[in-house]
Amino acid sequence: MSDTTRRVALVSGGSRGIGRATVLRLAQDGFDVAFCYRADPDAARALEKEAAELGAGRVVGRQADVSDADSVRELVAFTQEQLGDIDVAVVCAGITRDNPLVLMRDEEWHEVLDVNLDGTYHVCRSVVFEMMKRKSGCVVTVSSVAGVHGNATQTNYAASKAGIIGFTKSLAKEVGRYNIRANVVAPGFIETDMTAGLSDGVRKQAEKSIPLRRFGRPEEVADMVAYLVRADYVTGAVFQVDGGIVI
Ligand code: NAD
Repeated sequence: MSDTTRRVALVSGGSRGIGRATVLRLAQDGFDVAFCYRADPDAARALEKEAAELGAGRVVGRQADVSDADSVRELVAFTQEQLGDIDVAVVCAGITRDNPLVLMRDEEWHEVLDVNLDGTYHVCRSVVFEMMKRKSGCVVTVSSVAGVHGNATQTNYAASKAGIIGFTKSLAKEVGRYNIRANVVAPGFIETDMTAGLSDGVRKQAEKSIPLRRFGRPEEVADMVAYLVRADYVTGAVFQVDGGIVI
């Protein structure tokens, strides 16, 4: 049974990395939070347990594939049933399949676009109408500095992340009059599984190009998400959390 006085957030891709930090941060900020994960129920249960031990908001995870519209609709129905109306949606699920364009396989192109861009569409398509009816809501999408500046070997990823920016700005213009805000966070290099596979050489080179000389922490991105959730007069904006990197 849901408590209708509590605020509810949905985070896609919450089992690891930036999404996980965001789930914990929003729960500590007083939200009940539902999150989805693709493949690791143990990680999801561990996150639910950690949130419970912190005495934060209620946290529930469910398997879902954001590239599949039906799966996202089920996730949204699950969230509403367990926690109530969704006040905030954070679209964080994302993947990379890096390759130079001339070596790019069609599957690598489509998989990245399906998860990152179609996934963003599916989540927003499934939550925004209810927000419009309630004349209140907040969407935060997660792009990347690669979507702002481009990055070699990431034509697929950069296209999906640039698409997320255009999508979010358009959504902000469309639904602002319903008191719904939509903003983008564009992280630089962040310490997560996504960057764990970088070679030492690439990592050192990247660190040299970052004025703050280090990769960011997932909690530092979650901080920006938390700011955007409460920033009542900010919409259609893109905030880079990147240690000052210029690609
Ligand atoms: P991560 O690989 O640690 O976590 C990705 C999350 O997305 C996981 O919870 C995974 O279960 C989920 N996910 C992947 N495919 C999914 C699918 N089809 N359906 C549902 N969930 C799915 O990655 P991260 O570094 O935490 O990245 C989070 C977001 O931040 C991504 O959108 C990523 O593109 C973006 N980002 C990350 C970095 C970085 O350096 N780590 C930089 C810029 C942008």
